Amino acid sequence: MKLMISACLMGTRCRYDGGAYDSMVLQNRLEKCTLIPVCPEQLGGLPTPRPPSEIRNGRVITRDGRVVSRDGRDVTEAFARGAQEAEKIARACGCECALLKERSPSCGSSIIYDGSFTGKRIPGEGVTTALLRRSGITVFSENQLEELLAWIAAQGS
Ligand code: SF4
Repeated sequence: MKLMISACLMGTRCRYDGGAYDSMVLQNRLEKCTLIPVCPEQLGGLPTPRPPSEIRNGRVITRDGRVVSRDGRDVTEAFARGAQEAEKIARACGCECALLKERSPSCGSSIIYDGSFTGKRIPGEGVTTALLRRSGITVFSENQLEELLAWIAAQGS
């Protein structure tokens, strides 16, 4: 099973603040998968470190839903470009599912921040998650490891 995974969950220091997450538990539990790490925000051309961004109005890009950084820049295009590049990689590698970092404006899959930069969380999905799902790729978060493993087992791989 080929699994796209947020690069920061693999220990790559690509987070907005230059940090990463401890990856050993995930890597051990997913040892039977071929992991394809990507960071959509870097793929979209954003630097690391970078100001944090949130989806304004808490909605994935629509006419009135934009991605803005804390310093006030509209970074919607970079986020959209990163999502498209990640989706291209997923298709080229034959990924059927993805494990992406919850709460990120790119990678979140059920919770994101509301765009006010106050720490308020709301139900929603990131830009890359939305595009991957539209392409038929099943997306889980790092909080759904058991669900992901059950889903993989159900695929017979
Ligand atoms: Fe991690 Fe995704 Fe944010 Fe990149 S865009 S740092 S992979 S959560």
